[in-house]
Formats: sequence, structure tokens, C-alpha cells
Amino acid sequence: MRRVAPSSGNHCVCYCEDCQAFAHFLGRAGEILDVHGGTEIMQVSQATLEIVAGRERVACMRLTPGGLLRWYASCCNTPIGNTLATRAVPFIGVIRLGIREPAVGPVTASMALGPIRAHAYRRSAKGGPPGVPRGGSNLSIALRIVRLMLTWRLRGDHRRSPLLDPVTGTPIAVPRVLSTSEREALRMR
Ligand SMILES: [Zn+2]
Repeated sequence: MRRVAPSSGNHCVCYCEDCQAFAHFLGRAGEILDVHGGTEIMQVSQATLEIVAGRERVACMRLTPGGLLRWYASCCNTPIGNTLATRAVPFIGVIRLGIREPAVGPVTASMALGPIRAHAYRRSAKGGPPGVPRGGSNLSIALRIVRLMLTWRLRGDHRRSPLLDPVTGTPIAVPRVLSTSEREALRMR
């Protein structure tokens, strides 16, 4: 992920059961999930991503046939992020665990991401509700995300995703769709 600043995305935590199931699928729930089962995510344009090595190890899965594409590195089960199955909306929720500190410069990853602005699916949080982020009202955050997505689309970012074929828009890895029993087993955890 390159050229990321607080203004270029939406830094949030998602408590939904599907994000929790994905963390368990990777076998890295202890590292990905916070004490309330939340996944820290930076929502940015897919054009900010660049695959510099190991393209053949990039894999994706879906919890359901119509669910989000959930990307990860198949060699080490490091999460990459979640995308829609259509390139019409060139957004990716990059999972914090997979974000490295910059190699040079005084800006840390936390500074580049900015404060957490929003919580999603708080009802699915475990062990009582998490503290409320100071990001603004739900409406203002929703409008902000819509504005960001429109900007990315108008900029042509949907043609610059390293995860999708630039011509056909198909994912560069064939999604593995979990069976119902596989999915339920993950949700029991
Ligand atoms: Zn989620």
C-alpha cells in the first residue's frame, strides 16, 4: 500500500461475524482480532495497492457464493484485505495486520492511517460494546465513504487494481468458496 494518508481512506474497525470467521479461516484470529472480535481495517482505493513480489501466492476466498472477496497471502496466511466482487467500486478494506511500517521516513503506519473513525457491526462485538470512536456521525462517515468511492471511480482506479485483470475485471486468483459446513465451523469459534 502506497501514498496513504488519513484523508485518502477510512480507518475503521469491523466487528461482523464474517470478518471474525475470516480471521479464524487464516488461523490468525489472535493477531487480527481485538478483544471485542474487531478487525482493524483501512478502506482505500485498490489503486493504492501494488504487488511487488509473490503474485502467484495471492489467494482469495469467499465465505458465501455472493460474499466479499477476502484476499490473503497463501504462503503465510497473512491477510491482505476485502473487496467487492465487482470492479465498479474499486475499494479494498486493507487489514491492519498486513500493513507494514514504512521502510524510510518519519511517518509511522499509525500516522498514515490516522485515528479510527468508525465502527461497523458493533452489535456483533464480543464481551460488551467497544468504546465509541470520535469519528463523527454515522451519516457524515457514510457520506465521506461515498465521496471517496466516487473520487476513485472518476479517477479510473477501477482499471488500476493489481487484484483484478485490467481488461476483463476478473480476480487474479480464483476465489475458493467455503461450503456451508466449513463456514459454520468457523462461525462457531
Ligand atoms: Zn466485517
